[in-house]
Amino acid sequence: MTYDYEAPESQKLFDRAQVVTPGGVNSPVRAFRGVGGTPRFMVSGKGAYLTDADGRSYVDLVCSWGPLILGHAHPAVIEATSAALVRGTSFGTPSEGEVALAEEIVARIEPVEQLRLVSSGTEATMSAIRLARGFTGRAKVVKFAGCYHGHVDSLLAAAGSGVATLGLPDTPGVTGAQAGDTIVLPYNDIEAVRAAFAEYGEQIACVITEAAAGNMGVVPPVVGFNAGLRELCHAHGALYISDEVMTGFRSSRAGWFGIDGVVPDLMTFGKVMGGGFPTAAFGGRAEVMARLAPAGPVYQAGTLSGNPVATATGLATLRHCTPEVYRGLDETARMVADLASEALAKEGVAHRVQFAGTMFSVFFADEPVTDYAAAKRQDTEQFKAFFHAMLAQGVYLPPSAFEAWFVSAAHDAGAVERIAAALPLAARAAAAVGA
Ligand code: PLP
Repeated sequence: MTYDYEAPESQKLFDRAQVVTPGGVNSPVRAFRGVGGTPRFMVSGKGAYLTDADGRSYVDLVCSWGPLILGHAHPAVIEATSAALVRGTSFGTPSEGEVALAEEIVARIEPVEQLRLVSSGTEATMSAIRLARGFTGRAKVVKFAGCYHGHVDSLLAAAGSGVATLGLPDTPGVTGAQAGDTIVLPYNDIEAVRAAFAEYGEQIACVITEAAAGNMGVVPPVVGFNAGLRELCHAHGALYISDEVMTGFRSSRAGWFGIDGVVPDLMTFGKVMGGGFPTAAFGGRAEVMARLAPAGPVYQAGTLSGNPVATATGLATLRHCTPEVYRGLDETARMVADLASEALAKEGVAHRVQFAGTMFSVFFADEPVTDYAAAKRQDTEQFKAFFHAMLAQGVYLPPSAFEAWFVSAAHDAGAVERIAAALPLAARAAAAVGA
């Protein structure tokens, strides 16, 4: 299918970018390889809208992959950022903003007694795993297929389906040794976890899971899965790490923990807590966190950790995420999901909408998706057609069938109307695939 829209300025920028940057982007999914076509180079964002280099505006359903929960350039956030900026960009010393941000998070998320700030979600999960290994004196890590925890070497291991499979490197550059201590199991399969503990129990340092999976599309844990993980970890002296980089302060005010209440030993955060700046964190039980340098022997550090501009932006964002904001996000997410579902149903396109609090995604599948194998069975060709038809009508969806859709507090009736108006044609484009 072809589309009657062009993006000459974006194309020119993409051509330039490909000369100096591998694939023309600084993070692979931005390159549109999952959907084809020219990635849009954005020049500004305001509220629910992005504007690209060709001057087209889009309702943004990506929100920088989650962080921009209040929308682009929220006035109070910009004010806090600007005020911090004029005081200096980095001190390389402790500063009050770091303490205030940590206090805000500790106050919201009960299992977090202490917190360490880092600069990306990848750093947060990498450090949490090092700490778990240092705390337990064990090497092996259990992760789940389809869960993404950043590009940490040992967590880029994936494996075929089935029970406990020792990880093989999923990308060149990760050695067998780095991946060899990773056990990859099917998501939502507590029996597979039980079997892994039966075989390797004494060697397992931790289980890391997305609190609710959002990186294979949105796949919430089945009832009892997270609680089962915690129970098995504790029975075998391992730590339970809940990765809330995506769900934290997004699924609800207290993230996915605010929904299922399962208490992890360690948690990781990112995205919303930085409000669009590179700030992330890991935290948890004080007894475990006390093993971290300089309080304890497990080394972890960062030149820009707790950066004053980033912490000011994150703090302003969290402080404006009131209960009303979450109520509004919930309503908007359900409205957009219902509209998408109605449009697809009208054209006879098989689909499932799945939620994790205010986060959701649409699978082009005719079965509930509870794991990665099911997520991969969806019709990605239909998604591509749907994506491009939405893009052509000014709605920016994640350029992959395996990503969550995000709304913000700035997605008002006008933004929802634009989405509603675009959906019928996009649903027809999806229906036309393979017809
Ligand atoms: N963990 C989860 C659940 C994520 O969704 C991501 C990023 O999407 C990460 C970790 C890595 O975060 P970052 O991209 O900030 O390194």
